[in-house]
Amino acid sequence: MRPETLAVKAFEIDQATGALVPPIHLSTTYARDGEYRLIADRDYTRDKNPTPLGAEHAIAALEGAARALVFSSGMAAATALVRSLTKPGDHVIAPRVAYYALRGWFERFTSKWGVGLDFVDMTNLDAVRGALRDTTRLVWIETPANPTWDVTDVAAVAELAHAKGALVAVDSTCATPVHTRPLALGADFVMHSATKYLGGHSDVLAGALVTRTEDAAWAEIHRTRHDEGAVIGPVEAFLLARGIRTLFARVERQSRTALSLATRLSERGVTVCYPGLPSHPQHALATKQMTGGFGGMLSIRVREPLAMVKKLRVWVPATSLGSVESLIEHRASVEGPTSPTPKDLLRLSVGLEHEDDLLEDLVQALS
Ligand code: PLP
Repeated sequence: MRPETLAVKAFEIDQATGALVPPIHLSTTYARDGEYRLIADRDYTRDKNPTPLGAEHAIAALEGAARALVFSSGMAAATALVRSLTKPGDHVIAPRVAYYALRGWFERFTSKWGVGLDFVDMTNLDAVRGALRDTTRLVWIETPANPTWDVTDVAAVAELAHAKGALVAVDSTCATPVHTRPLALGADFVMHSATKYLGGHSDVLAGALVTRTEDAAWAEIHRTRHDEGAVIGPVEAFLLARGIRTLFARVERQSRTALSLATRLSERGVTVCYPGLPSHPQHALATKQMTGGFGGMLSIRVREPLAMVKKLRVWVPATSLGSVESLIEHRASVEGPTSPTPKDLLRLSVGLEHEDDLLEDLVQALS
């Protein structure tokens, strides 16, 4: 089956009733039979609730993965992976440009637990090569990367990392499985903030990890989720699976609108960061690596960003991304005084509104 079909099948037909929309299993505990045996090999909800399985099966299928696990948030997924795979004395490479909260966590975690860390310009393969050490256990990639949408060559970085015995994990939140399949490019793991495009409606906090092989490293990650309980609740799992069913329709449209807005804004002289524009420094790589579009995220550089945001009527000034409504955010304000994000940058998450309404709103606010 093709990915669009696999996404729709995130709701599996309930075998007990035939229902097309499955039940939400709220029970936290599961009874034993007269012989004191578990009735369906389920004992307790932390790792055994059946409701998240629909989302997990769909995400694994969409990423071409051996397995997927969903978590209570994207941060829970990312941190579970890094903590499961590293020990004191190891070294990790993380991107200089990446989701700000995760960059901060990398710094705090590694300094506290004796793990070496280098932030590297992941668009520069020589820099990646130079940063790899014999102790490098993990290379973290985010592509396209918040908030300038730098594109990293996953296949090339994976080759360099694997030659040194390091593992590669890709935060593919903004590419989504619609546009990039990092495992097919050589990555070992993929992470999603499923709060974003996979959920897609600003109503569920969730994270996901997928693996190329069910090996010892994956077993350790699964163990961490089980022990620490960073699991998704059943209602959130239901909403996530419901979101995944429309992933392709949403993301394809959002990407089309984003490309058109990026083009029309740059024709008006606005500085636009978007991998789909020929002016983007990694446009050629993005064209090769991303399929069917360049995603729904772009940034613009404007003289008075906060004054502009105040004039907007269609775009909602709010954090997060990947939902049906278009959001705009001044990342430097949100990230605080240590933010590396340029102060003139506004991050735009394109939703499902009419393209002309979105453009007209930006144009009136820019004038
Ligand atoms: N990765 C990226 C690219 C993100 O944008 C975010 C959240 O904004 C995260 C990870 C963290 O995900 P969550 O908010 O679901 O914990």
